[in-house]
Amino acid sequence: MDFPKCTVCGKSTKNNCNKCKSAWYCSAVCQKKDWALHKLLCANFTTFIETRPTTEIDSNEKLPPNVVSTTYKSAILFPENATIPQLIWIKSNIESTYEERFEKRPLTPNFHYYETLCSGLSKYMEMPSAHNDDDVEIWVGDNSLAECKANRCFATLNAGYFHGDVGGIFRPTHPILYAGNAIATRSITTQHEDPVVGKHEQTLYQDVTLGDLRRAFQFMARKNIIFEADKKNLFFLGDPGQWIDAVKISVSGDMYFDNKPKYRQVSIKSDHDIFTDKDTDVSHISELMGYPLLLRKSEYEDSWIDKVKKGMLLPHPFMNSEPCLLLRNMDVENKDGKWQSIDAEKWDHGMDSPVLVARKDKKDLTRYQVEALVTYVEVFIVPFFQEHDPDMSTRSTNNSITKNKREVVVAKFGSSTLFENFFENFKNMKLAAYRGNTDLSWANAVFFDRS
Ligand SMILES: [Zn+2]
Ligand SMILES: [Zn+2]
Repeated sequence: MDFPKCTVCGKSTKNNCNKCKSAWYCSAVCQKKDWALHKLLCANFTTFIETRPTTEIDSNEKLPPNVVSTTYKSAILFPENATIPQLIWIKSNIESTYEERFEKRPLTPNFHYYETLCSGLSKYMEMPSAHNDDDVEIWVGDNSLAECKANRCFATLNAGYFHGDVGGIFRPTHPILYAGNAIATRSITTQHEDPVVGKHEQTLYQDVTLGDLRRAFQFMARKNIIFEADKKNLFFLGDPGQWIDAVKISVSGDMYFDNKPKYRQVSIKSDHDIFTDKDTDVSHISELMGYPLLLRKSEYEDSWIDKVKKGMLLPHPFMNSEPCLLLRNMDVENKDGKWQSIDAEKWDHGMDSPVLVARKDKKDLTRYQVEALVTYVEVFIVPFFQEHDPDMSTRSTNNSITKNKREVVVAKFGSSTLFENFFENFKNMKLAAYRGNTDLSWANAVFFDRS
């Protein structure tokens, strides 16, 4: 039995995994990509295969009249209540569709044999595989989550991936969920010519390979669109981008209900839509510093949105004023007449969402760098305006600030040297005590990479 297709890229190959010999790879690169998932089953694979149950029929157990033989085939279980997949044996019966009415026909006896998986799957619903040439079938529990719990194994392997943006004021994240246990089996379907029933398809079950572990998981995860999480996901392959460190600025609800910090480190892929979306804005102040930051409204967490809908209200669960500090317009030309203000239509509803921040040049960004820049605007730039430009506080005179004055402000604050000094001071304050809190993680904080 041979499936000479690379588990990862599909190229034909004769190289398989040295240990389990059950997954094929065209190159070390492809093998490495599959490893995080593959290693979950590789080590125990050969010992498992030796445990195949013999097809013994209990003397008390009579085979149903239409069953002509029974075998056991290996399958992969993604357990409902555990995080790691496992190999299992599934009973497979060869049945005959022999029917009495055929007896009257001259060509009898002719049996139409077919195979069914009859153990462990009775309650499951088949979800046919999209990969026609793979012959991997995924069986999942009933769709209604009331019947079965969400599949924990898949949720763990797929952690960080979401369906995508569903729009509206409440934009909750939607992890992809399956109900109940999920089982991957391998089968081949052949055309069979039967003198009685004519042409029909015959499905024969086979043992799964460990390449099927990858195929099954990738198929189940095919709706993955957005990735945002505090950890990289090394299991799912499919989005071509590189991992990038980005930062999420939490709303009050994230902090109050989920104990999330204000600034949290997240991993995204370089093909994340923050780099292409028309709703992404560039922070002016970061642009002046020479490392433009992109800001994009992000999704709420399901967990606490439900609580808010049920009436557990904070005074302001949707408060998030920090992104507005990064987004103050500091365009000297003031082309759109919004000097010193933000796009209120978009960013200041009083119903704000968590905000994702990433470097436009796709380099890594740390939460320290974002917090320091927000604080820099808050403690230097905002007070400067209040002190030197009292007119600034009223919108009606916003456009009366001369270009001269605007240049002074930009020259004064848009300097990365000044900010770098501030960064070091701020770091020391965070390490000692800033606003009553000591944060020793700041010991590792480094200023922006300008290379
Ligand atoms: Zn390959
Ligand atoms: Zn292996």
